[in-house]
Amino acid sequence: MKRRKFIKNTSLSGLSLVTANAFAKSGIMQDNNLNKIVKPIVVATWRVPNATKKAWEILQDGGSSLDAVEQGCRIEEADINNTSVGKGGLPDRDGNVTLDACIMDKEGNYGSVVYLQDIVHPVSVARKVMENTPHVMLAGKGAKQFALSQGFKSENLLTESSKKAWEEWKKKSEYKPIINIENHDTIGMLALDKNGDLSGACTTSGLSYKMQGRVGDSPIIGSGLFVDNEVGAATATGMGEEVLKTVGSFLIVELMRQGKTPQQACKEAVMRIVKKSGNRYKDFQVGFIALNKQGEIGSYCIHEWFNYQVYAKDENKNYKSDFYHKP
Ligand code: ASP
Repeated sequence: MKRRKFIKNTSLSGLSLVTANAFAKSGIMQDNNLNKIVKPIVVATWRVPNATKKAWEILQDGGSSLDAVEQGCRIEEADINNTSVGKGGLPDRDGNVTLDACIMDKEGNYGSVVYLQDIVHPVSVARKVMENTPHVMLAGKGAKQFALSQGFKSENLLTESSKKAWEEWKKKSEYKPIINIENHDTIGMLALDKNGDLSGACTTSGLSYKMQGRVGDSPIIGSGLFVDNEVGAATATGMGEEVLKTVGSFLIVELMRQGKTPQQACKEAVMRIVKKSGNRYKDFQVGFIALNKQGEIGSYCIHEWFNYQVYAKDENKNYKSDFYHKP
């Protein structure tokens, strides 16, 4: 498949053409009238139909985008078969399951937890940080203590199968991130509700077999997630270190503010990572999704097989992202 050529023109006609292309690809037809907003809509990284379904039900009932992204993320956090998020997440190289998550609302409020252990729903703890503390981020022991004080229960998150996989890994102890480890990964979710308000959330167990104490992009404001209710929202998956160095999600929102479509903005953020990495990009994956105030979506990644889930217009569909590396 030839790489799509994107129009650089940021005039309104240029915009609607590019947007129409992105939507034709995703199967969601965008109205020619830019004032016609596609809402509600929820978009998430990877193949997570149950998560977007949950979010969609909340949005359809007139619920807020904030409730939708939180509840949607919780579905994956509770799924022990998803080994990159919540319970069942693969541990660090010492066998600890450590979780990172964040959430951001339409007012630009933000809450996050990093290196949280023994709590199944870090996204909900992040929301409590946002709503019930004067802070935006809590880490490690303090985050857990806070979670317990808010009524969350402590439990062992290392499942038998994740423990087995870790024990297998320990035989060689080879630290080599694998591109697209599986068909689901960090979940980043963005939603636009019936009121036209945007929110986002992101939750992960981070890179498997990471060094103890390692925190990636997912819970870091502007890197793994950013929401500006005037413009749009973006979230990331993949090699967190690379996303952090370019503050990818904030970059995408700022590019959209300057007139780029979500698709153009995601592509530019990926290209920045690719260019800065020299040849290293061949060994890691980064994928972004974005949603703007009009309900237009975009997605771009380095390597093939990143996909994303969209629930809009009563349809819950998975789409393959466009990608850079076409050897
Ligand atoms: N971005 C996550 C991290 O670096 C991992 C991933 O999405 O695979 O922690």
